[in-house]
Amino acid sequence: MGELIDVKAIVEVERQKIKQRVQTLQERHQINPKLQVIMVGEHAASMSYVAGKHKAAAAVGVQVDIQHLDRHATEEELVEQIIRCNKDNSVHGIIVQLPLPDHMQEARIIAAIDPAKDVDGFTAVHQGNLVTGGWSLQPCTPKGIMVILQAVCGSIAGKHVVIVGRSNIVGKPMALLALAADATVTITHSHTHALASLTAQADILIVATGRAKMIDASFVKEGAVVIDVGVNRIAGKLYGDVDTRAVLPIARAITPVPGGVGPMTIAMLLTNVVEAAEAQIDQERRKSNVTTI
Ligand code: NAP
Repeated sequence: MGELIDVKAIVEVERQKIKQRVQTLQERHQINPKLQVIMVGEHAASMSYVAGKHKAAAAVGVQVDIQHLDRHATEEELVEQIIRCNKDNSVHGIIVQLPLPDHMQEARIIAAIDPAKDVDGFTAVHQGNLVTGGWSLQPCTPKGIMVILQAVCGSIAGKHVVIVGRSNIVGKPMALLALAADATVTITHSHTHALASLTAQADILIVATGRAKMIDASFVKEGAVVIDVGVNRIAGKLYGDVDTRAVLPIARAITPVPGGVGPMTIAMLLTNVVEAAEAQIDQERRKSNVTTI
């Protein structure tokens, strides 16, 4: 019988690290790291996610400011708002809460965020640096999954990681991070033939499809570590993409939903705010050194 991974305990370790770094920023640089959240409309799930981020941020000393735009706001109004935040020195990280209303093009909005403040890691600069191996603010969900895997498996070098889902925010960056950690990676998606024959080869199976409980025991190799990214709300209850009860007797370990990848993603968002603030200090220092010379 496998175990439900105690992600809360892993998140707590990360929270302590964030607190420490926030304290250093405050004491050495008199900087209070600040996250600017921009929301458009009153999407119910987004309101609840943002409330969760706000609470978690307050607990580690990261400031959060939330700006609401009317759901009828234009793309130009949203871009202007982002540009104002890009220029505001008191803001270290910016996120635009997704999904956006249908009349807005997500790609154009994300591209307006200054990469130095893009703490979701969605801009082309950070996604590109994942490919080339340069420094990046890594997308929070895959970054957090790497932390969970480190805690559960140690090194994943040589392991076969199979990812179900190829979105820009989970599947693709996840594949690049696992590859950078020397795993052998297979990415699958809705057009993949004989999906179960691939997932059943996985030492580590990562599922991000948004299809409640689609992965049952027939998709899982005995002794695999399973990471369930899915968050599916059905009749007010949350379900993952994995049928946990069916998979637990076969897997070595699996992340719970709720209380798994979700809280870890928030912890990584706050880590990214701190990393962004630290990088901005370095950038300022380099600029002033150049001026002095
Ligand atoms: P997405 O953009 O909708 O992508 C879903 C992916 O799953 C697509 O690549 C799709 O394939 C693939 N897929 C769908 N049905 C499939 C099937 N039957 N067989 C194989 N592949 C299938 O979703 P996302 O943004 O990556 O999110 C996925 C899930 O994770 C959602 O439940 C979301 O709420 C959750 N999520 C959770 C967190 C967290 O912090 N816990 C963060 C992000 C996302 P195609 O590309 O071929 O369409």
